[in-house]
Amino acid sequence: MSGSRRVRAAGPPVSFKAACSDCRARFELDAGALRLVIGGSRRTTFYSFTCPACGASVRKPAGERIVELLTGGGVSTLRSV
Ligand SMILES: [Zn+2]
Repeated sequence: MSGSRRVRAAGPPVSFKAACSDCRARFELDAGALRLVIGGSRRTTFYSFTCPACGASVRKPAGERIVELLTGGGVSTLRSV
């Protein structure tokens, strides 16, 4: 990667498709609704969000590709070691 990533003021908002494992609702979340946690192993790397339908806090494993997608989309990332 070269240079810094510029935040586009105007442009389509980035949204991520997600599904609730609790009520099985499907929806799209914007970057601000998601949180990514990167741990030292696959088991501790996950993303979480609050289901807009039932309010459950959902946690899902994040693979390499998802991590790239989320960080690229401006999702706040927490690194836990
Ligand atoms: Zn739900």
